[in-house]
Amino acid sequence: MIRVGVNGYGTIGKRVADAVEAQPDMEVAGVAKTQPNFEAHTAVERGYPVYAAIPERAPLFSEAGIETAGVVDELVADADVMVDATPSGIGAENKSLYASYNTPAIFQGGEDASVAETSFNARSNYDDACGADSVRVVSCNTTGLSRVVAPLEEEYGVEKVRATLVRRGGDPSQNTRGPINDILPNPIEIPSHHGPDVQTIFPDLSIDTMGLKVPATLMHVHALNVTLETDVTAAHVRQLLDDQSRIYVIPEGIGLDGAGKLKDFALDAGRPRGDLWENCLWGESVATEGRDLYLFQAIHQESDVVPENVDAIRAVTESADAAESIRRTNETLGVGL
Ligand code: NAD
Repeated sequence: MIRVGVNGYGTIGKRVADAVEAQPDMEVAGVAKTQPNFEAHTAVERGYPVYAAIPERAPLFSEAGIETAGVVDELVADADVMVDATPSGIGAENKSLYASYNTPAIFQGGEDASVAETSFNARSNYDDACGADSVRVVSCNTTGLSRVVAPLEEEYGVEKVRATLVRRGGDPSQNTRGPINDILPNPIEIPSHHGPDVQTIFPDLSIDTMGLKVPATLMHVHALNVTLETDVTAAHVRQLLDDQSRIYVIPEGIGLDGAGKLKDFALDAGRPRGDLWENCLWGESVATEGRDLYLFQAIHQESDVVPENVDAIRAVTESADAAESIRRTNETLGVGL
């Protein structure tokens, strides 16, 4: 049993904890929280031992009626692997804590790539993380792009990727984010930082990205143009993408014409928190002209990295190879629509 500690129990951390708990070969050793807010109460209800992420704040938890199991150092000492899901930049600050207990750590995409020995996407470079002391699961957008690039690269070769990322302004709980009524080129500089992030997974890939931010919280939407190394047909590409276990090719005529309906679909399907772990790629949008491929896909920013974190845990502990880990994760979570 791999004992996993989760430091930072917010949007990503709480989902990763539940996904870990669902694995037959893993258990949640505990979660570290900075404050005894509603999420701390949820952790208690789920039966996860709660640790104080900031030792001086430990008394606040008992005042709020939450019994802590200790402070974060004790969790790090006890866990076989730590998943750091703290806000961007805090993970790097925590790195020395994990190293001091020789506990391998999984960081998130908000950290610089330099935080870890390797950046990670299960479909693309699982083996690079095997036995590593530190791994960074790339961001939601980079995960979504990597899942498409990997099969295209293997099957046809990729000459150039051009991607426009229409990004949600914030997550549903981020009530200070925006824009609330605008359409922002963001970042204005072209190309955006997203392309170099994809290159942390595919170092030789030629990719240019542009970003916008819009008043939505549901999902990101990507418009992709990929120049391949061979002529292709839309039907062939579509079948290739349909065969990927973490890509849901949305069938025609089903009425899933946007992110809102996709989220409704996930809730109707009884998905926890309405999560969509898969890239949601519109089958009708897959179009080709010679070597040029075009498509639209939607990425659920709060959840697509969750199965990747589970696989990263198996990679650092060398407890399964890529195919076996992906299969187990998919099966236990119910990935695949
Ligand atoms: P979040 O703000 O929802 O959650 C972070 C949690 O960490 C909060 O509960 C916060 O109170 C807690 N925290 C703050 N300081 C801490 C500390 N010193 N020790 C322990 N906990 C602390 O953030 P998030 O959206 O879950 O993002 C976490 C990481 O995942 C970031 O690197 C982010 O870039 C990345 N990520 C986020 C998304 C997304 O869309 N939300 C998608 C992919 C990756």
